[in-house]
Amino acid sequence: MKKQLIALAVAALMTGAASAAQTGVLANFHSAMGGCAVCHGTDKVVPNAIPDDEYALNKSCTNCHGSYDKLANKSKKIDPHGSHLGNVNCTSCHTAHVKPKLVCNDCHTFPNKMPFADAPEAKKWDDGIDAEAVLKAEAAAPRETADVVVIGAGSTGMNAAISAKRAGANVLLLEKHVFSGGNSMLAAGGYNAVGTKQQKAKGIKDTPEAYVEDTMKGGRFKNDRELVKILAEESASGVEWLESMGADLSEVKRSGGARVDRTHRPTGGKSVGPHIVDVLRAQSEKDGVAPRLNSRVVKILTDDNHRIAGVIVHGKHTGYYKVAAKAVVLATGGYGMNQDMIAVYRPTFKGMTSSNNVTSTGDGIKMALNIGASMTDIDWVQAHPTVGKDSRILISETVRGVGAIMVNTDGARFINELTTRDRASDAILKQPSRSAWLVFDSQLYSKAKMVRGYDHLGMLKKADTVEDLAKLTGMKADVLAKTVSDYNRFRSAGKDEAFGRADMPLSVEKAPFYAVMVAPGIHHTMGGVAINTMSQVLDIQSRPIPGLYAAGEVTGGVHGFNRLGGNAVADTVVFGRRAGEHAAAFALGK
Ligand SMILES: Cc1cc2nc3c(=O)[nH]c(=O)nc-3n(C[C@H](O)[C@H](O)[C@H](O)COP(=O)(O)OP(=O)(O)OC[C@H]3O[C@@H](n4cnc5c(N)ncnc54)[C@H](O)[C@@H]3O)c2cc1C
Repeated sequence: MKKQLIALAVAALMTGAASAAQTGVLANFHSAMGGCAVCHGTDKVVPNAIPDDEYALNKSCTNCHGSYDKLANKSKKIDPHGSHLGNVNCTSCHTAHVKPKLVCNDCHTFPNKMPFADAPEAKKWDDGIDAEAVLKAEAAAPRETADVVVIGAGSTGMNAAISAKRAGANVLLLEKHVFSGGNSMLAAGGYNAVGTKQQKAKGIKDTPEAYVEDTMKGGRFKNDRELVKILAEESASGVEWLESMGADLSEVKRSGGARVDRTHRPTGGKSVGPHIVDVLRAQSEKDGVAPRLNSRVVKILTDDNHRIAGVIVHGKHTGYYKVAAKAVVLATGGYGMNQDMIAVYRPTFKGMTSSNNVTSTGDGIKMALNIGASMTDIDWVQAHPTVGKDSRILISETVRGVGAIMVNTDGARFINELTTRDRASDAILKQPSRSAWLVFDSQLYSKAKMVRGYDHLGMLKKADTVEDLAKLTGMKADVLAKTVSDYNRFRSAGKDEAFGRADMPLSVEKAPFYAVMVAPGIHHTMGGVAINTMSQVLDIQSRPIPGLYAAGEVTGGVHGFNRLGGNAVADTVVFGRRAGEHAAAFALGK
């Protein structure tokens, strides 16, 4: 009966018939249909008693309303429940007592109005840090004890937590955001690995040495070669590790700066990030290390001997508290969304758009600095050449890798499309418009699935002829026509006489033709916390800080001055696993 009532009410909300209810708050709406117990489990509501992770709350939503897949309105062009983010929580958007939030609009600008949009504005629970509350929590007894605390539940953190747990440690994985995934769940292109069965099946001849040399060359030889060697040597076992959890990384393609196809991704060219994050979310739950969401670590604690002693956490509902731990893994990601840090470390990029998740705020770097960690290449920030102009949507490198050409606003090519990101970005920024067009045809449209996503978002211009595409985009028709015909000729001859592009998998000749306007945006922070090959964080005298480990985008050294596409996801898996294993061994005294 209750389910029927709820179904009716939801149907009314969706058709707009419940407009009166939409002016209240979601909690009142539910209270009319079963009281506070619908969400709180009991009508005796104890303030702040909801666990920070809100898992039970979210379970009660899906118990009544069904899965996102069921809720997705497939007839609608844009439907939040059918989003590409995977299994994010209902409470990411729907809030009981305050104004709801369309979380997609952290990156997009959808006009959808949510039910109860007129509810009172929410006060952000994690705005700033209450210094007094931190001191109080520090002085108090720990609320919990763990062998290993992992900070941040992107791919790095989930890989580290699973590894540490499997190594026998008692692990707590803390995540500040309302859902896990960080930048990892935005990764579109793929995961670079050498020596996989996928490469062998395609007859691709590749070696760890070639992977290392490509990565070093891409990073202008400023990378830490020992870290890069580990990345290459353990990249294939990282793929197998993910596959053992159910991941599909069966396709292999080329990314910029790589001499062979070594970028692995799911079948049909689907985005790699949301897929592996969903796999890791499910596995971390199975292994008993599901991230504790809405739990921001604000301080790392050390004892008198400068050994790790634990962390101070700020929980959304439970406030500030201490967790005692022997080892901490920093997996907090980069600082691409922290404009203050960009202004300090890379002032020339200040104000530039960013492809990053809102979670990339550099917390880990600041906390590590506070306990004397040293930094490697902290000022090296990568601009991705192809972020949708005036947006935060990344147009994946795959689009160029699969065959698109890049032209200026006249319609002329100006660079080898497969060069490294820093060079491509610099070349675009030298164009008078500081932007460029990616041009491709229907062959690419059907080959690279993600392109349909850009089309879905209304980012593509489409025409039946190259001339019409030029008219539609303001390019010069004769220039674009010559560019396309030259490129097709170079491709047939197997030699790009204009810019030396080595790989030209597709011609541009089958209508309809497409173009998407792009410009560089902050994409990756290559520098960060200094680590050694055991993922131990180093102090300013290059000595490991006992008990502190780090991996993924929060670290520096793996990518040098410029990261190759596909190497960051590999980094999160390879060094995430290493950090987890070494932290567990340290904590367990092995
Ligand atoms: C749009 C886009 C596309 C990309 N595509 C690719 C690709 O195809 N291939 C590739 O190799 N790389 C790609 N990258 C780069 C790659 O995705 C990231 O570098 C990598 O996933 C970072 O993983 P991470 O686990 O280190 O950090 P993240 O995934 O960012 O995770 C960090 C987590 O830590 C949490 N956190 C931060 N501070 C705290 C705190 N104080 N307390 C608790 N939690 C905290 C954050 O909320 C976040 O969930 C892409 C990046 C972007 C933005």
